[in-house]
Order: sequence, then C-alpha cells, then structure tokens
Amino acid sequence: MIIIKTPEEIEIIREGGKHLASVLYAVRDIIKPGVSTKDLDTYAEKLIREMGDTPAFLNYRPEGASTPFPAALCVSVNDEVVHGIPKKNRILKEGDIVSIDLGIKHKGLFTDMALTAPVGKVDEKISKLMSVTEQALQVGIDAARGGNTTGDIGEAIESFIHSQGRYGIVEVLAGHGVGKHIHEDPFIPNFGKKGKGVKLVPGMVIALEPMLNLGTKNVTIDEDDWTFRTADRKPSAHFEHTILITEGDAEVLTKV
Ligand code: MG
Repeated sequence: MIIIKTPEEIEIIREGGKHLASVLYAVRDIIKPGVSTKDLDTYAEKLIREMGDTPAFLNYRPEGASTPFPAALCVSVNDEVVHGIPKKNRILKEGDIVSIDLGIKHKGLFTDMALTAPVGKVDEKISKLMSVTEQALQVGIDAARGGNTTGDIGEAIESFIHSQGRYGIVEVLAGHGVGKHIHEDPFIPNFGKKGKGVKLVPGMVIALEPMLNLGTKNVTIDEDDWTFRTADRKPSAHFEHTILITEGDAEVLTKV
C-alpha cells in the first residue's frame, strides 16, 4: 500500500532529512586510511543520538532475515554492494571505496540516504563508477515528477547508465517508499520501461538508490546473511536520496 504523506508529516520528514544528511556527510568527512568500518558506525550513532533521533537500521529485521542488522550504519567496502556490517578489524586503506548507508527515525518518521566515498586516491575507472552512479541518482530524481511512473524513473536511470559504458545494474535491490516505515511500497527498480509501474503522486515520499557494479549485475550474499557482494568481486557503488514527489520537480529531502 502506498502511503501519501500529509503536509505535517512532510515537514517532519524534511527536518529528519536534514539531520540525516548532516550525519552522513560528517561520517564521510572522517573516511581515511586507518579508520575501521566500526569507527564510522560508532560516530554515526553518536551523532544521531545527539540530535535526539533513532538509528533505523539498528536491530532492523525485515521479513525473511535470519538475524536483525547489528549496527546503525551499513558500511560496504569495494566489492560489497550494500548492507555491509561494520567491524573493528575492517580497516580502510588507500584506494578502497566505501559505501555508507543510513536510515534515521525523527519524530516517528523515517528517511534513508547513502553515498560512496573514496579512501584517499582511487583508480580512475573506480572513480568514474562512483561518478556515474551519483549522476544516475540525479537522473532518477529528475524523472521523478508527479504524473510520471516508477518505470519512467527506472528507464531514465538504466538508459543513462548504458550511455556511460558497460556497467552492471543491480536488479535484486531497488528504491522504495519511505516515511512511516523504513521500507514502504512502491518498489522502484533501477531499470524499467517508460509508462510502466506505479504512478507517482504528489505527497509520495520515496528513496531512489541506484547500485552499480564495475563488472556484471550479479550479486551474492555472505554467510552473515546481510552483506551483498558482487559475484565477480569487482567494486560497486551506491548513492541514495529520500525525495518528495510534487507536481513538478521532486524535492530532495536528505540535504543539509
Ligand atoms: Mg534505501
């Protein structure tokens, strides 16, 4: 069921989105060689709690998951696509890329955001992978106008990516509605056909999140039952914003 948000709810989500973006950018700023993925999680959770908010992913257990997620922040390094579990002994090194994905609950309502950042200097083709993924998110946001469909978003993202080179678009994970819950309908794949899917209506709040692999689209799940990893072990990038559907241009809610 798609939940249309009231103006009052949207105001709270907008406020939460500001909090979330400020936390995620602060975490990005401490990414450097020698930092552990657990350090990033600890810092994120501290900042969230200081704002009076709650980490949405900590102990989150979606249907079908064998264990709850054990941290506030998903930290996915290199060939890890999403849902990486932070660890004290996972130390970032020069040339890595790290995807950080965070959800928060602010005054009872949820927002969701992710970005991928380099650790020091990274290989040029990996740098381009990140840039194409970030641009693909913007292309998706541009297509997310009231009256368009989720298929229009998917088609826009997919055709942009294909215009940029040979990349694998992850298909088993997708964007989603957000707000009352961290994951709501509709499901918004990063590929699709114009005019298909669900119609976008003003007042819908959705998270768009292209995940792009340097190799094939195929992914596997680790024994921890959380970490998605590229099947060919090539790097992967992920960018996400929570946005509001309006009559015209979508409004990005996860911004400082
Ligand atoms: Mg999400």
